[in-house]
Amino acid sequence: MKIGRGKLGNKTVVLLSTQNTHEAFPEQSLNSILKDPQGYQSQGEKVEAREISLLPPVTPSKIVCVGRNYQDHARELGNPIPDEPLLFLKPPSAVIGPGQPILYPPTTSNLQFEGEIALVMRKRVRQATAQELAESQDLFGVTLFNDVTARDLQRGDKTWLRGKGHDTFAPLGPYVILSPIQNEYDISTKLNGKIVQESNTKHMKFQFLDIISYISMIMTLEPGDVIPTGTPAGVAPLTVGDRVEIISSQIGALSNPVESWDQRVTLIK
Ligand code: MG
Repeated sequence: MKIGRGKLGNKTVVLLSTQNTHEAFPEQSLNSILKDPQGYQSQGEKVEAREISLLPPVTPSKIVCVGRNYQDHARELGNPIPDEPLLFLKPPSAVIGPGQPILYPPTTSNLQFEGEIALVMRKRVRQATAQELAESQDLFGVTLFNDVTARDLQRGDKTWLRGKGHDTFAPLGPYVILSPIQNEYDISTKLNGKIVQESNTKHMKFQFLDIISYISMIMTLEPGDVIPTGTPAGVAPLTVGDRVEIISSQIGALSNPVESWDQRVTLIK
């Protein structure tokens, strides 16, 4: 079972999908469906996949990322792998959906992709140990994430806000896979059709429940919150005109083009 969001005509809907069927629900039901998808099954409007133009599958209150969670990636950037999860936030305003363009901002000259598996919270969690979390069912789903990074700003600034936080730096989707949840997901990235990253979450230093527990000791996690779990080796610069695709055989593919930020679009409303 999986959850998505999309445009059906001019309406935004939540999609609850199985192998061959898609049902549409009003967008405000998202968090309730995340908590109890079975309760909604067969209650929605039957729709065809081709009628839907996909949006990001959730609208997180926050995106809490884990850095340097794969030894090979920490090493390629000359960093030690940390003793505790290295966390940083990306703003929800950076989220884009499948197919939407990553905009190359004029503030950087080294924009890079980072293909990641992301957890999507289905429950509210505060101050829970990994053991307590292990006893809970339906805690999270999984999706794909591109932790787009302006590497020069990340390295040059004292905080990672600019390096990680520009609009469009958080491609997410296409669907949140609710079941079955496993510990080992393959993860790869294709740049213009060529594989540039290839790994598996079994190589992560901090595993899913350890990460959720660690974050929950700091802040309350809400349904729909997104936790990208780190990138393996192979990160590299992007240029305008590229297409970057994050792929997992168990989850799907998240594909986004890179376009110029050039034309300033002012909005005051
Ligand atoms: Mg990352």
